[in-house]
This record gives sequence, C-alpha cells and structure tokens, in this order.
Amino acid sequence: MENKWKDSSAQAAIEKYSDVHEDIALRIYTSRLIGADPALVLHGGGNTSVKSRTKNKVNEEVDVLYVKGSGWDLDTIEPPGLPGVLLDHLIKLRDLDSLSDEDMVNEQRTHLLDANSPNPSVETLLHAFLPHKFIDHSHADASLVIANQPDAEKTCQKIFGNTIGIVPYIMPGFALAKAAAEVYEKDKNVEGLMLINHGLFTFGSTAKESYDRHIHAVTLAEEYIAKKQPKAFTPLEGPAINEGEKKIFNALAPILRGLYGQKSGKSWVVCHRKSEKAKAFASSEECSTWSQVGTATPDHVIRTKQKPLLLNLKQWQSVDLLRDEVASALETYYKNYHQYFKLNKDAKGVDKTELDPLPRVLLVAGLGLVTIGKTIKETKIAADIYLHTIDIIHKSFSVGDYAPLKSDDLFDMEYWSLEQAKLGKSKASVLQGKVAYITGAASGIGLATAKLFAEQGANLYLADLSEDKLNKAADMIRGKHKVGVTAQVLNVVDENAVRESFAEVVANYGGVDFLISNAGNAMQGAIGEIELKVLRQSFELNFFAHQILASEAVRLFLIQKTGGVLLFNASKAAFNPGKDFGPYALPKAAIVALTKQYALDYGQFGIRSNAINADRIRTALFAEEVVKERAAARGLSADDYFKSNLLQQEVFDTDVAQGFLNLALAEKTTGSILTIDGGNIAASPR
Ligand code: ZN
Repeated sequence: MENKWKDSSAQAAIEKYSDVHEDIALRIYTSRLIGADPALVLHGGGNTSVKSRTKNKVNEEVDVLYVKGSGWDLDTIEPPGLPGVLLDHLIKLRDLDSLSDEDMVNEQRTHLLDANSPNPSVETLLHAFLPHKFIDHSHADASLVIANQPDAEKTCQKIFGNTIGIVPYIMPGFALAKAAAEVYEKDKNVEGLMLINHGLFTFGSTAKESYDRHIHAVTLAEEYIAKKQPKAFTPLEGPAINEGEKKIFNALAPILRGLYGQKSGKSWVVCHRKSEKAKAFASSEECSTWSQVGTATPDHVIRTKQKPLLLNLKQWQSVDLLRDEVASALETYYKNYHQYFKLNKDAKGVDKTELDPLPRVLLVAGLGLVTIGKTIKETKIAADIYLHTIDIIHKSFSVGDYAPLKSDDLFDMEYWSLEQAKLGKSKASVLQGKVAYITGAASGIGLATAKLFAEQGANLYLADLSEDKLNKAADMIRGKHKVGVTAQVLNVVDENAVRESFAEVVANYGGVDFLISNAGNAMQGAIGEIELKVLRQSFELNFFAHQILASEAVRLFLIQKTGGVLLFNASKAAFNPGKDFGPYALPKAAIVALTKQYALDYGQFGIRSNAINADRIRTALFAEEVVKERAAARGLSADDYFKSNLLQQEVFDTDVAQGFLNLALAEKTTGSILTIDGGNIAASPR
C-alpha cells in the first residue's frame, strides 16, 4: 500500500488551515489521506484524533481531544468535523466501573469546547485513554482479513511480531476503550492495536508517525495475504441462468421494487454493481456458505444487514412465475430475519423494535451484486461495502478461514442506538425512492418539473433532444440535490428509441413511478389547407409519442404492481383551440381522450392518469415573435398578454410543475384534467 504522505502537502494543509492550530491542520491532512483510500476506509468508517492545547474563555490553557465527529467522512473532513472535547474530564471517566452509552454520549457532549459541534465519535474514549498525540483508526481490508481469522492473534504475531497489540472483540464504547488502554499499557512499545473482528488502530507522536505506522501495518498484512494462493470459486452447476446481465437485471429489478414496496409501504431503488468478481462469487458453490457468515466489520451491519439474499433464478417462462420465485426467497429471508431478531431480543431481555427485514444486498447467480435502498446513495454505500466484503471473504478463506462476529454480537451492533443514529432521523422527503421519467426535460415546463420532483426526493430520468441543454440541466440538478439524475438524448417520435429508453430507466433505478410526458411542439396552419404530412408529423409528436411512452410506463407499472402515475401535458388548445392552430389542437384533444382512456383501462391496477391544461407559459414553445404578434392582435403588450386571465397574473412553468407534483401526489385522483392558466372560462374543461 502506497504511503501518500508528502511534506509539501502537509505544509500546504498547515497554510490552508492557518486559522486553526497546526495540530488540527495536520490531523485533517492525514485523515483525508486515509479517508480517500477505499482499501482503508469506506463511507464514514474509521476515525482519527489529535490531542492538543488551547485557551478557554477565561484564558486558561486546557488539554483538548479533537476527534472525528459523527456525520463526517474522513476524506472530506474539515475543522468543524473534529469536535474538541476537554481531555482531562474524559480521562477521569476511566476510573468508573461502567458507563452506559447514553451517559457516555452525555459526558462527551457536556464537555465539548463548542456546543454546536456534532457528537464526537463513538470511539472517542478509546482515543482519550491512549496517551498518544495522534491516533488513526481504519477498517482496512487487509486488516479485516487478518482480524477475522479464527486464530487472529497467532496470525498477527506472525505478521507484526510484537509491534501490534491484540484487543479481543468488545462492542465500541466505554468497555472497549478501557480494554484497549490496558492492552497498550501491558506493552508500551506497540505502535498500534488490532481489534479482533473490527479493525486497526495506530498511534504516534506526530501525524506522520501515526500515518506511517498505519500504512506500514496494512502493507505487512497485504504482503502476508499476497503470499497465499487465492482459492478458486467453483462455478454453480445446473440452472444458473445465462441470459446476459442486463436482461437478468431488467427482469428482476421491477419485481424487486414491487415486492419491497408492498412489504414496506415505501419506495426503493435497485442497482446492479458491475463486477466480474462479484458475478463469479454470486455464481459459485462457495457463495451459499461464505456469504452467510457475517459482515467484515460490525458497523457494516446497518448498511448491508448481516446476510445478503442469494438468488439462483430458474423461472424465466413468465413474469408471474419469476415474481413467485423471488417472493418465496424473500419470505424465507424475512422469516430468518425475524427469528434472528426474536432469538436475540429474548436472550438479551432487551426492549427493541424490529427493523424492516428487507435484504439490502442480493447476490444473483449469473448477474452478481445487486443492492437496494431508499436512495441511490444507500445503494451505492451498500454496493461499495459489499464489493470490499467479497474481496475480504475470498482472501480470508484463501489465508485460512473467515470467522467474523456472530449473530448475537451483530444484533447488539445493528440495534445499538448509537449506530442507528448514524443513519439519521431526518424525515424522508415526499418522493424518496420514487423515479420520474420526464420528456422535454432540458427547458421550460419539463425542467421546472424535474427540479421540483428532485427537490421532493425523486430520482430522475431526463429525456430531451438537445444534448447540451440536457447535460447542463442534469448537472445543475445534481449540484443541488442528492437524487439520481440520468440524462438521455432522445427523440420521442423514434418509437424504438423510446421503448429502449425504458430498459435504461430500469438499468439505472430498477423501475419507474411517474411518467411526465411533456415534450411537444405547436404546429400551425389553417386546417383545410394544411398538408397532411404536417398534420401527421404533429400527431407523431403530440399524440403517438405520448402513447408509446405511456404504454411502456404502464408495462413496467404492471410488473411492479405498486400503482404508477401518467402525467400528460395537454394544452388549453384541447378545449379552446386557437385559430389556425388546428395541427396542434387536434392531437392535444386526443391527449385528453388518451388520459381518460388510461384512467379507465388501468384504474383497477392502481395506475392513475391525469393531464394538465396550461396556457400562456413563457417557454421555447412561445417564440418571442409569436408572443408579440398575438399580443399586438389583442392590442396588448407582451407582459399584459401573459397576465390577461381571470386572476390577472402571469402563469409560470414552475406553476405547471407544481400542478404535476400535486397530481402525482393526489392518490384518489385519476382521469382528471387540471387547468393551470390563471383562469380562462372558455378553456375550462366541462
Ligand atoms: Zn471502528
């Protein structure tokens, strides 16, 4: 493993963070070095600290432990991510016989330098009880291969000699902190501690010394592992499907979304992480035993649960048979999870509420690693963790054996209030886990709708003709919201491309919940004189494209069995056509009929179909000359033209977006045409 320390970069960090103590600047520098390497630390894992001095408000020098705060990741840590805690008080706590988690958190919080700081790490006391100035803790892959060996202590001896002390497994908190300090005090020459089933600590008097020792220890472990012959996976015999990854995933994902939605009443996204190793593992004989043991380090359990669900699908004849097969595998998983919960809860006599029993990681023969979460971020975290876990498991068995924490210890971790707090208690956004497919998404109403749906937590599949504008729109939304945003250049009159685009929606998110069929264009001409070709073109864009999109969306809705909403952009032209706008008004009138037909034919499946009847929105549709012309024809200025409605207020694309959102959320509304035009009796539906 490469040692990435550079004197010049350390100096640069000191200069960059010149408003805080040099100790903190260097603490940030090496914390980021560690955090940036996924072989050392993943998603909020690991923690670091530095002991320093500062002056309090009454000008007294005080010793302070600056330690990683919860909610911060090492790779992006900044000074506020290292809350300062009064060290003398923390050290005094060591004299206690015991300290509950709640009391520990309280002691740490009430001795912060800054009352606004995040909670100091759950491993704060471990950092406090050791005397070293700098301390680094990671869950490095190589250290976990060693820490999960059944004879980890002996293996450590072989690799590290006496330079690393061994701490038997204890759950993080007061007891572990005491035990770790005792191990250190038995041999003060050690440069670090290996926490069995958990990870590696190193320490030193400088940032560089502690970091160097960390990289050195991990390198020694890596070299030891590299000398062992990797065990080969034995490919599964029999019906492991061989249909191509995309085909398997696309058949499976909407079914999973649906089953998860039905079980939890929430919405989920499903992702496939492409990896040849994961695919080989999922398609191996070894997978059924090796994957069912446990997580590589305890805090992964809140991201991946203890065990992945294994699938070796056989039923390809029909969607229904495949759904039955997946549903029955899930039922078994739920039952086992419930048993695990009940057994441990009863044995420990604790009062806990069962978490949902839904697996977050699936290993699918012939496909590989699939992760499911309520957000794209959750699926990414679970996938990153599990890819590393596969590697750790494989190497562990190649070195000797894999003996991670057993169920009863993992239960304590999974149901530990301090671990659950890491997942955040903030209220889920209204459209969390939902997926919206929006056409004409690069500008105007489509873009306004995309922004609003993203703000509410929906993942987006954005389609438009203009690549430049589309990418700009997608980047802008990505910059503001943490939802998934996929941009697809698409001409909605290209039937094949539209049908194929739904395979892409599934490949990205596992399915779809809302179709906002918005793309359109106003064509003009007196209806008696218009070329039939032009009228047909208008119908292709303003009617048939909507129909193709809707039919594909409905096909997916029916597989998911969790409802779904079609939202069409009709126009006031559907009810109140303008002179010489027949080529536009006719297909738009047909869209109103289409909206009602879908409502009628698919209401029984919980699928809703609604449209918006908007007018006079300043968008690309309304070229400036057209506006001027029309306004002039009515003796109005352009601004007054846009306000010439009953409410005398201009209607914006954001108003239409709000209408789409309202219809998306109106669970008892279908076959409805919502007018958003500031009021125009002649155009109001009757
Ligand atoms: Zn840890």
